[in-house]
Amino acid sequence: RQHIGKIKTSCTEFDEMMGGGIESQSITEIYGEFGSGKTQVAHQLAVNVQLDQEQGGLGGSVIIIDTENTFRPDRIQQMVEGKANELGIELDYEEFLKNIHVARAFNSNHQILLVDSAMDLANELKDSDKPVRLLIVDSLTAHFRAEYIGRGTLADRQQKLNKHLHGLQRFANLNNAAVLVTNQVMSKPDAFFGDPTKPIGGHILGHTATFRLYIRKSKGDKRIVKLIDSPNLPEGEAVLAVTRDGIVD
Ligand code: ATP
Ligand code: MG
Repeated sequence: RQHIGKIKTSCTEFDEMMGGGIESQSITEIYGEFGSGKTQVAHQLAVNVQLDQEQGGLGGSVIIIDTENTFRPDRIQQMVEGKANELGIELDYEEFLKNIHVARAFNSNHQILLVDSAMDLANELKDSDKPVRLLIVDSLTAHFRAEYIGRGTLADRQQKLNKHLHGLQRFANLNNAAVLVTNQVMSKPDAFFGDPTKPIGGHILGHTATFRLYIRKSKGDKRIVKLIDSPNLPEGEAVLAVTRDGIVD
């Protein structure tokens, strides 16, 4: 078994809560309302995974399965510039963008297929100087939610999500990669999906995602991230801020 890697989040409290960062060989789910910062955290990790180990990264590249068309190269540039300032070194954002492989998923079936493509790409890059060490699915559930409407299809949806998650876990294991998935929760009751405070796919995700994080807005640019479920860490909370430079203390 390979050594578990950890990707720092750029927030000290967050890293401490996670026992050092987002782990490889695991799925980490981050869930929260719209605008809570899930995609921001995903962008930050796509930058940080590329840093050297001493800088909090894994010296790897990243694959993003983008289901809502919310990947923003400009945002990566801001975060790379922020990181360069923080570390007092020069970083070339174009290099960072090259190591972010973005695939748009047009529907849930396509999304599942893209994990196979991700596996192929990871195999290709395995012996390169930037092996894939992070796979992001942002959002894990949006297509499923849109396509499976009504009670009758809930079991089908759960079954497909489950299959998808098994594919993601396999990716994490075979590539010693971290997998980060986002999941939106509703602020208002949803006629089809029941309890608004529970993430979509609650039950099945609850058993598969190794680390579950709940993120919510606080004052100004502050966000509170709560570790809800982990195999080996106590529950806890961390405060972070989302700024132009990215995620910060
Ligand atoms: P959704 O469920 O809709 O996908 P999300 O949880 O992914 O939402 P994000 O897109 O991560 O939400 O967060 C958007 C918020 O991040 C903005 O409302 C803003 O507060 C903050 N943000 C985004 N870009 C910047 C920036 N360049 N500088 C500062 N804050 C920013
Ligand atoms: Mg988002």
